Amino acid sequence: MEQRADRFTALSRRIWEIAEISFEEYQSSELLASELRGAGFQIKTNIGGMPTAFIASWGSGKPVIAILGEYDALPGLRQDAIPEKRPIGMLGSGHGCGHNLLGTASAFAAITIKEHLQASALKGTIRFYGCPAEENGSGKVHLGRAGVFDDCHVALTWHPDDRNEPGVKTTLANVGGYFRFRGTAAHAARAPEKGRSALDAVMLMSHAVEMLREHVPAETRIHFFVANGGSAENVVPEFSELRLIVRHPDAPTLDGIWKRILKCAEAGALATETTLELEISGSLANVLPNDTLAALSSANMRSVGGVLYDAAETEFAQKLRALLPQEGLPDLNIAARVQPVQEGVTFWSTDVGDVSWRIPTGEIRAATFVPGVAPHTWQSTACAGMGIGQKGMLVAAKTIALTGIDLFLQPVLVDEARKSFDRRRNGRSYVSKLPPDAKPRVKFPPK
Ligand SMILES: [Zn+2]
Ligand SMILES: [Zn+2]
Repeated sequence: MEQRADRFTALSRRIWEIAEISFEEYQSSELLASELRGAGFQIKTNIGGMPTAFIASWGSGKPVIAILGEYDALPGLRQDAIPEKRPIGMLGSGHGCGHNLLGTASAFAAITIKEHLQASALKGTIRFYGCPAEENGSGKVHLGRAGVFDDCHVALTWHPDDRNEPGVKTTLANVGGYFRFRGTAAHAARAPEKGRSALDAVMLMSHAVEMLREHVPAETRIHFFVANGGSAENVVPEFSELRLIVRHPDAPTLDGIWKRILKCAEAGALATETTLELEISGSLANVLPNDTLAALSSANMRSVGGVLYDAAETEFAQKLRALLPQEGLPDLNIAARVQPVQEGVTFWSTDVGDVSWRIPTGEIRAATFVPGVAPHTWQSTACAGMGIGQKGMLVAAKTIALTGIDLFLQPVLVDEARKSFDRRRNGRSYVSKLPPDAKPRVKFPPK
């Protein structure tokens, strides 16, 4: 893998430069698919009604091991690969979550595993899942509903972070909605009594949500913005829209909070004599950790080692860190270390969660961002386009390749992973709050 590192580093940099957002990843998915095709994988595209989803498969029979890859960017995060804020162009998209590294490392691991299977005549099937729209589209929820994980035994994946962590942490389950209020327009001075303000409903709802915030469990996260607040000061707003996401690590607890959010919305409509329409825009499960896969990944990550900066990368890291709040800044050399396997919650959400309730899933984190740099920032975008991110990507690719090969060499580990899955699930099943008939919000390329 070390000998071919340059090829995959260059591939990750091309995807970083293209930076296509959710459901627009036409070039990025094709770059990864063609790399896998060239390595001998069979490619199926347009999965689950998503043109930028694909599955690359090699081998036959059991076990079937899935490696998950993402490649979507974020709007508004375009940034040069330098340690100072300098957007390339205005309001362009950028790889602030490092998915250019994520997809490339996963493809590199899948290709390496395939070559090992071929050389050692081991039985089984290795697949790469090209998963679109992680950021804004619940791509893996739609893939799961298409049934493409049903014959898989284990899924392996990773995520860029500021540390190397083969842990058993969970994430936040979430649900988001577009709350649309409709009232009656009127001249705001001549006949205000004839108007019923949709914006008033949004303001009352948001106030009720702020009151609610005190009375929910501490791990809850609620965030919203007003997507439409009217169109003119002198017109009573006929239409107004609030977009909100609520998160909690435990899905049943989240269900209860969600019901109370709906009451806040209904209260806004009731008080203002407007009507409310709700569209659930997305919903993700928390990650169900897997002890077997975490232990295996931990051993492999330790043999791979962490990320070692050269002199130029150290200087880059120091410049970036000088711009961050210094309070609570982690040690610079955590990038070089591997964290122990530890329970806990990472306060973000991922559609890997929905896969993890279907099949045993191992997700690791690798130090692609300078310690202290959070994802979804210009700093993380910069890291994902240069040596630091690329070195972290190789730690992830090597760890996943070793872990995948272990599963093929010792199929008993696949059974163990299943037992851990059943133990953690403990009879619970997860039902997504995304309506069963919800379609992926795909975008077709201009003709
Ligand atoms: Zn993200
Ligand atoms: Zn991400």
